[in-house]
Amino acid sequence: MLELKNIKKTYHTGGFSQAALKDFSLKFRQNEFVAILGPSGSGKTTLLNIIGGLDRYDSGDLIINQKSTKKFKETEWDAYRNNCVGFIFQSYNLISHISVLENVELGMTLSGIGKGEKRKKAEELLERVGLEKHKHKLPNQLSGGQMQRVAIARALANDPDIILADEPTGALDSKISKQIMELIADIAKDKLVIMVTHNKELAEEYATRIVKMQDGEMLEDTRAVSKEEKEHKMFNIKKTAMNFLTALNLSFNNIKTKKGRTALTAFAASIGIIGIALILALSNGFKIEIDNFEKDSLSDAPIIIAEQSMNMDEETMTKIHQKDNSKESYPSKKKIYVTENKMEQVTHHNNITEEYVDYLKKMDKKNISGISYQKSTAINLVVHNEEKGYELVSTTNMMMPWTLLPTNPNEDDKGIVENNYDVLAGKINNDEVGLILQVDSKNQMDESTLKQLGLTGKEVSFNDILNKELKLILNNDYYEQIGEYFVPKKDLASLYQNENSIPIKVQAIIRCKEEKEILANGSGIAYTNALTELVVEKNKDSEIVKAQQEKDYNVLSHQVFEEDSKTNTKKIMLAYLGAESTPSAIYIYPKDFKSKDNIVTYLDKYNDKKTEEERVEYTDMAGMISSLSGNIMDAITIVLVAFSSISLIVSSIMIGIITYISVLERTKEIGILRSLGARKKDIKRVFLAETFIIGIFSGTLGILIARLLVIPTNIAIENLSKLENVAKMNPIHAIILITISVILTMISGFIPARVASNKDAVESLRTE
Ligand code: ADP
Ligand code: MG
Repeated sequence: MLELKNIKKTYHTGGFSQAALKDFSLKFRQNEFVAILGPSGSGKTTLLNIIGGLDRYDSGDLIINQKSTKKFKETEWDAYRNNCVGFIFQSYNLISHISVLENVELGMTLSGIGKGEKRKKAEELLERVGLEKHKHKLPNQLSGGQMQRVAIARALANDPDIILADEPTGALDSKISKQIMELIADIAKDKLVIMVTHNKELAEEYATRIVKMQDGEMLEDTRAVSKEEKEHKMFNIKKTAMNFLTALNLSFNNIKTKKGRTALTAFAASIGIIGIALILALSNGFKIEIDNFEKDSLSDAPIIIAEQSMNMDEETMTKIHQKDNSKESYPSKKKIYVTENKMEQVTHHNNITEEYVDYLKKMDKKNISGISYQKSTAINLVVHNEEKGYELVSTTNMMMPWTLLPTNPNEDDKGIVENNYDVLAGKINNDEVGLILQVDSKNQMDESTLKQLGLTGKEVSFNDILNKELKLILNNDYYEQIGEYFVPKKDLASLYQNENSIPIKVQAIIRCKEEKEILANGSGIAYTNALTELVVEKNKDSEIVKAQQEKDYNVLSHQVFEEDSKTNTKKIMLAYLGAESTPSAIYIYPKDFKSKDNIVTYLDKYNDKKTEEERVEYTDMAGMISSLSGNIMDAITIVLVAFSSISLIVSSIMIGIITYISVLERTKEIGILRSLGARKKDIKRVFLAETFIIGIFSGTLGILIARLLVIPTNIAIENLSKLENVAKMNPIHAIILITISVILTMISGFIPARVASNKDAVESLRTE
């Protein structure tokens, strides 16, 4: 049973206090129709709000089920409001953006009643109040009387024991008022109805008990409960909770009523996302583009370890280019001043030793797509041509660069040659003695190169080339000893026909792949590793080599060797003759960018703890270029993303403001939800749900717009740079950005949501 015991309630506004209820006591029966009469300001609404658990009393006690409510927790009040009390207000207090049916269902939703049951009950109730035909309308499509009927249906939804009605007919004309009163009187047959009214006649006609009050005090009670009357236990309080889906539905419906505004907000909020998404798409695309380009260029740009390497670091370069002001410009003295060799300052002389070669051979082969150990050994070939007769060709001929074909150390993986060239005829086999001919993209090869192979004419068929036989002449046949000296033999025909001469054929004709044209196009002759090895193998013990090892002068030119010379030392001569097996230069072709890092690290490690003399320096041009490009790309991306992030923050703040405005607009709704038993938490959810929807919407919109903008962006880039489809949106970026958008909007909606949940229920209901 319900009983008020010495309830006091005072409102404090500013410095002013207003006692709304002064020591008010009242006991109700389980089933009666109590009308509360009294002039405006006498405390009727306050009394009703306290009974309904919307407002709290200052002192005294409200007894529910013979239990004091002094120690009631928030959640208990929420549950009490939800399933024990039904409110009917003068101003109906329906939620305007959901249908009549949904309004009636709302209280049941909060108490967790299943969908089907809820719908059935709501339809029954609407039938009872005579509105079954209007269930799908929005509240503002109904008349006042009809709206009040909806409110009555809603109040009955959770089958409460108490109906509290605050001037339910106050806004209706007398005819409609009577109809509403009949409905309420009907309800009062099996419930406790407490109705506040101004209308004495209606009260006297329908109520079973009239309580008159004035200035917060009881004036008269026509049918007070006597001590003898039996107490009834009436309530069964269940906890309430709004699930996030309900919150989403409420907010979604609310958002639907302001489509234009939401669309604008979402669009504004999406601008940050659009910016970032576009920048990421571009940088993503450019990175791929640069990566591809680097891969291509790296494959053609080996790390070179030559006898001399250039030191191109910044320090050395500035030192070289520094202006020297200590010397007079345009001097008048008739003298030349001698300076140091500038090239010498940046040149490092590498002493490539057996030890170093061994070190290289231990390198992880997975990083390498090709490697060649160049030797300065002369490979002496004699070619024969019908018209021109016999001719000598030497690979050390500076006019015609013969190159050593790189070896691929990985059997199960394509190497540098396979990656860059198509084999047009024949078959490459680096382990067999032979030559490889590279023609350019138009199958061209210059006259002088073909001549070196003994080929002439305007066109040469592949077959003629592959059938052409050259002869490798070994030192012992080629050099003739005359006293202390050696001279090359002049009779090339007999050298060619000599049985010791080794036939050499062209193994294959290759051409750069179309997509590699920029980097690998060109023509020339390459020889296999097996050929160099064979030459060294056969020549290292030749007579001329033996003689040269003993003498301090060049056995061919008769020149005396010089200690510090760069062209005239014994070592160089021995290498030329094939005695020296250490390479003169090493070309390492990395597999990709990362492999190159690994290779470079490995090469650097060799130089640890080595003296300046012993160090072996390499040249890595591609590295210098690409590290620069990668760094610039990253820096640009970071700066641009940072700029766009500002707009993301701005839009978050904006969403915060919009949500706050929404909180203000939905204050009434907050009050209604609270009167239906929604917890503070539930209110917070409603607004977080709203920002969630806006966040998802603006994030997705941003990604969609950015995706569309990628198209014209790519067209513009293509016009400028001929690069197709550069901007590419990474789907992971898109998902991350939508998530960020949701998180940011929810963060920005958090404060307004808190404000909303802390709003006073009674005051929220008072706002219009
Ligand atoms: P009634 O419903 O009988 O017209 P109320 O219960 O609304 O009276 O108000 C009782 C008194 O308490 C009035 O004097 C009113 O001004 C005051 N009052 C009611 N609610 C508030 C409030 N939230 N803040 C300050 N004063 C209030
Ligand atoms: Mg009132």
